[in-house]
Amino acid sequence: MGMIAFVSGVAFAIIGFELGVRGTLIGILLARIGSFWAIYFAYQYSKLLDQLKKMATTFPTCPKCGKEIPQGNYAFCPFCGAPLKS
Ligand SMILES: [Zn+2]
Repeated sequence: MGMIAFVSGVAFAIIGFELGVRGTLIGILLARIGSFWAIYFAYQYSKLLDQLKKMATTFPTCPKCGKEIPQGNYAFCPFCGAPLKS
């Protein structure tokens, strides 16, 4: 969803730029809105990636096999069966 908005923002900017070159006010406006939109969604997307990275790092890992344990109340590692709680 975010990527679609990002791509349409870039498309707006390009179309707007093309029109703006020909001297239309709408083109200049479209280019402004499009580039703002693209930057905004790129920023949101990078924030989301950061959040995902943070979430990934807070996952506990199995002491035996080192795999990330998915969220849930696991007493044993779902991958190798090693006990997780001492
Ligand atoms: Zn394991």
